[in-house]
Amino acid sequence: MPVTNAKKYLSSLQDDREIYIDGERIKDVTKDYRFIGAAETMAELLQMQHDPDLTDTLTYSSPSSGDKVGMSHIQPRSMKDVKARGDAMKVWMDATCGMLGRSPDYKNVMVAAWAAAAEVFDRPSFNGSDNIQNFYEYVRENDSTMTHVLVNPQVDRSKPAHLQESEIVAQIVKETDAGIIVRGARMVATLCALANEIVVMPAAVTWHTTETHKTTDYAFGFAIPTSTPGLKFICRPPVAHFDAASPMDGPLSLRYDESDGIAVFDDVLVPWERVFLFRDKEAEAVIRGQTGAGPHALHQSVVRAASKAEFMMALALAIAQSTKIDEHNPVQVMLAETISIAEFARTCRIGAEAEAHETKFGTFSPAMRHISLWQSMFWKFYNRQCEIINTLGAGGLVGVPSFAELAGGAKKDVEKYFQSVNADSSKRIKLNRLAYDAALSSFAGRQRLYEQYYSGDPMRTQSLMFRMYPKDEHIQRVHDMLDDLEGRQNPNWPDKEGGPAFERTWD
Ligand SMILES: Cc1cc2nc3c(=O)[nH]c(=O)nc-3n(C[C@H](O)[C@H](O)[C@H](O)COP(=O)(O)OP(=O)(O)OC[C@H]3O[C@@H](n4cnc5c(N)ncnc54)[C@H](O)[C@@H]3O)c2cc1C
Repeated sequence: MPVTNAKKYLSSLQDDREIYIDGERIKDVTKDYRFIGAAETMAELLQMQHDPDLTDTLTYSSPSSGDKVGMSHIQPRSMKDVKARGDAMKVWMDATCGMLGRSPDYKNVMVAAWAAAAEVFDRPSFNGSDNIQNFYEYVRENDSTMTHVLVNPQVDRSKPAHLQESEIVAQIVKETDAGIIVRGARMVATLCALANEIVVMPAAVTWHTTETHKTTDYAFGFAIPTSTPGLKFICRPPVAHFDAASPMDGPLSLRYDESDGIAVFDDVLVPWERVFLFRDKEAEAVIRGQTGAGPHALHQSVVRAASKAEFMMALALAIAQSTKIDEHNPVQVMLAETISIAEFARTCRIGAEAEAHETKFGTFSPAMRHISLWQSMFWKFYNRQCEIINTLGAGGLVGVPSFAELAGGAKKDVEKYFQSVNADSSKRIKLNRLAYDAALSSFAGRQRLYEQYYSGDPMRTQSLMFRMYPKDEHIQRVHDMLDDLEGRQNPNWPDKEGGPAFERTWD
C-alpha cells in the first residue's frame, strides 16, 4: 500500500483505544482539544509525502509492492541511502522546528534496523525472526505510526524488576495457544494517544547491564495495536495553555504537544505472531548489543537536534535583533554560543552520515561516534539555548500581552507601546510569545526534560560511552610521549650554555 495521507491517518485513530487524561476517558482523540493539535501536525507530516515537490525526498519504492513508502522505513544499503534518509527526516524536522520528537520516522528507523538484523531474533527460547520481519513490512506498507515503552515504572530503583515483589512492572502472567498474557505497566509512551501500534521491548540501558534475569517473566519483546483490548494509556495533563485568547500565544505548544503516558496492560493478549523475544534471559543484550539498531534509531534524533538547534538559534537572533541588543558585545558572545550549538548539532549529523559503515547485516549504519557525541552533550546545550533566549528576552518575555490584545479595547496603546526599534507591535508580540513558548513555558520545560531523558538516562548513556570508547590508544599516547621525553633528557640540564632541555629530534 502506498504512503498514507492526513485523512486516512486521522481516521485510523478513531478506534477503541483507551486513552485517559485529566480523569476522563477520551472517545475520539482527533476531536479532543488536548490532542487535536499534535494529531493534525502528524497528519500534515504524513500528507507531505504526497507533495510533488517533496515526494522524491520523503518516499522510496517498496521492495515488496513497488508502491511509494516512507523513506524512514528504508534499510540503507549504501552511504547514499543513509544520507537520503537523513534528508527526508530533515524535511519533517524543519517543518516542526524539531519539537515533535515522535514524528513517525523516530520508530520507523528502529523497526527497520531490527528487521535488518532479524537473524538475531532466532534465540534458543523463541524464534522471533519472521515476526520482526513481518511486523516491519506491515508498518512500512501501512505507514503505521508507533509509540514504544522501554522502561519499567519507577517503583523501586534499588533493585531490578525480577527482585521486586510487585505486580506493577509489566510481566508475562500466562501463555496460551493464542499468545502470551501480559499484566502490569511500562513507561513512558510518548505519542501513545496518536499512534497505531505500541512496541514493547526490553529496557534500553539499565544499571544492571551484566545481570541476566533470574526469572524471565520480564524478558520479552512484542508489538500490538494501541487499540488492543485491555491496553490502557494514562496520559499526563497537556502542557499547552488552552485558555489563551489567541492561538498565536502558543505557536509551538498548541501544535506539538505529542503527549506522554503510562501504558497499562490489563491481562493483554499478545498473539504469538507479534512476539519478537520471549522469556529470553539476554533480551536486553540482544536489543542493545546485537541488532545494531542504536545508531539507526538515533539518526533521527541527531537530524532532529540539528533542526531544533537551528530553530532556537534563529529565535535568539530574532529576539536580539528586535530591540537591537545584538549591537552589544556580551550579547554577541551569547549569540555566537547559540550559533555554535546549532553548528555542533549539524556537524554531528554530517559526521554520522559521512562515516556511515557497512554492518554485518549488509546495511549501512550512521557512525555511532558522532551520535554518541551528540547524545552526551546536546541536552545540556539545548538547556543553554533556552537559557540564552530567556536571558536575551528578559522582561520582554513576560512584558508582552496576548496577541489578542491587538484587537482589544487597548488596541491603540498596544500598537504604540509594544513596538520596538526593529519590529512593529504585531511582529514583536508574536515573536516574544513564540520565545516564551519555546524557552519558558510548561511546553518548554517538557522539551528540556525530553532532551535530557528520552533516549535514556544520560548518566547511563554517558557511562556506556565511556566504557565503549577506545581509550587505551589515547592513554598509551600520553605514556609514549613521556617515555620519549624521558629518554631524550639533556643530562647537563639546566644547560647554561644554551643547550635544549631535551635532545633534538633532528640531530
Ligand atoms: C519527556 C519524556 C519522554 C519519554 N518518552 C519515552 C518513550 O516514548 N518511551 C520510553 O520507553 N521511554 C520514554 N521516556 C523515559 C526515558 O526512557 C526514561 O526517563 C529514562 O530512561 C530514565 O529512566 P527513569 O525516568 O525511569 O529514571 P530513573 O531510573 O528513575 O532515574 C531517576 C534519577 O535517578 C538516578 N538513578 C537511578 N538509579 C540509579 C543508580 N542505580 N545509581 C545512580 N543513579 C541512579 C538517575 O540517574 C536519574 O537521575 C521518556 C522520558 C521523558 C522525560
